[in-house]
Amino acid sequence: MPALLLTNARLAGRTDRCDILLDGGRIAAVTPAGASAPVPVSTLPEQVDVDGRMVVPGLWDAHTHLTQWAMVRQRLDVSAATSAAHAAALVRDRLDLAAPPTGGTPLVGYGFRWATWPDTPTAAVLDAVAGDVPVVLLSGDLHSAWASTAGLRFLGIAEHPTGLLREEEWMPASPRIVTVDDAVSDALVADAARAAAARGVVGVVDLEVADNLTAWRRRVAGGWDGLRVRAGVWEQHLDAVLDAGLRHGDPLGDPAGSDLVTQGPLKVISDGSLNTLTAYCFEEYAGVAGPDAHGILNIATDHLVPLMTRAHAAGLRCAIHAIGDRANSLALDAFEASGARGSVEHAQLLRPDDVARFAALGVTASVQPEHAMDDRDVTERLWPGRDDRAFPLAELRAAGVTLALGSDAPVAPLDPWVAIASAVTRSRDGRAPWHPEQRIDVRSALEASVDGRPLDLAVGGPADLAVLDADPLALPAAHDDPADLADALRGTAVAGTLVAGRWTHHAL
Ligand SMILES: [Zn+2]
Repeated sequence: MPALLLTNARLAGRTDRCDILLDGGRIAAVTPAGASAPVPVSTLPEQVDVDGRMVVPGLWDAHTHLTQWAMVRQRLDVSAATSAAHAAALVRDRLDLAAPPTGGTPLVGYGFRWATWPDTPTAAVLDAVAGDVPVVLLSGDLHSAWASTAGLRFLGIAEHPTGLLREEEWMPASPRIVTVDDAVSDALVADAARAAAARGVVGVVDLEVADNLTAWRRRVAGGWDGLRVRAGVWEQHLDAVLDAGLRHGDPLGDPAGSDLVTQGPLKVISDGSLNTLTAYCFEEYAGVAGPDAHGILNIATDHLVPLMTRAHAAGLRCAIHAIGDRANSLALDAFEASGARGSVEHAQLLRPDDVARFAALGVTASVQPEHAMDDRDVTERLWPGRDDRAFPLAELRAAGVTLALGSDAPVAPLDPWVAIASAVTRSRDGRAPWHPEQRIDVRSALEASVDGRPLDLAVGGPADLAVLDADPLALPAAHDDPADLADALRGTAVAGTLVAGRWTHHAL
């Protein structure tokens, strides 16, 4: 890899310009603009003038399900369609806007509801806008699908009178859409990585519910170069990771090859979720009675602690899903009892005492601020009188807890600027901020999105960088209205992204 010199860069919180020399995948030097490089380089560096743009450490998403996201992100939302012709127009617009999916997979849409449509959904209506591109649209209840002629062919259906597959016609064909073969999913994941790089992302933690060791070894062998990935492991696949002697951070591929994909944490689900009334709480859900009125604990302490102890002894970290306050309390107990290191995933509802315990135990709070925007109304309804303790980012931050922002994609989009906007404003869709006392500032949100690296760059650190068109730290001063600020942060334009000194996105 040739050395690269980014000239005329600005660092976070600084007004002067500097040159950033990248060599051997590392940040070799940061010098005042125009000064000659103080260190010898392996090759004469290529120079790229970033013209005063801000350069920050590349962004991380601390919680993704990358294959699920890769599949969902290329699906077209047709839920607004008021007729078959309208749905077809949405398909046509999408094909005008972006290339069709690669790897022979169909363009998949979802959400259509044709019961009240004035016209009839037929394969011919889709053929007229999509031609040979296979198109399969899923109904809002997932009980039917509407396919173009090429889409029917993809589904293995040679002849069909209309193209609208209902119930027993659709169910046997549905696995062709819901599950895809490895070559297709790998191509989609590579696409998703390119899209993430265009948002400044250099790394993700992948907590896909799958045999991630096998999947990522295959992708590394296939030349994966999209992002850094920490591949999590589930209990049912833990033996394979331990048998391979993999510790946290060890490369999953050939040790002499790429180190972009490394071993991530043991992922354990300890409770359910708010919307299904299964997050495990100290108090009952509002309006719910019976034995499960506090939610559901999915794993007993006498199972969780030995499991975490075993992972910790083998050099792995632990990522424990906990949403309700009681599940969080028990997860912290388990970190204490096992001595394990790692994170609580979600940490949605916390007692004040447990906020302090996160800090004391050095457990990272891996949080998804966009979920607070999705769930603000349901939180107030189901956890009344406790909603001030929900998504308590400012409280965690003030207590000195390490925060790591993420999306839980596909639940929220894999775009750190969405998470940052929600963390900073607690506002979306023009609504007033929700519990604004739990907002954190832009600097804190950025620091929680760069995998612990200093915002003003560390010489010797990995050459994982994002080149931003605008200075996000300056946005609050320019946007008094939180809704405007949220939009501005969400729209942060990324001019370039580098992983280990190599461009993964280059729009300079
Ligand atoms: Zn998740």
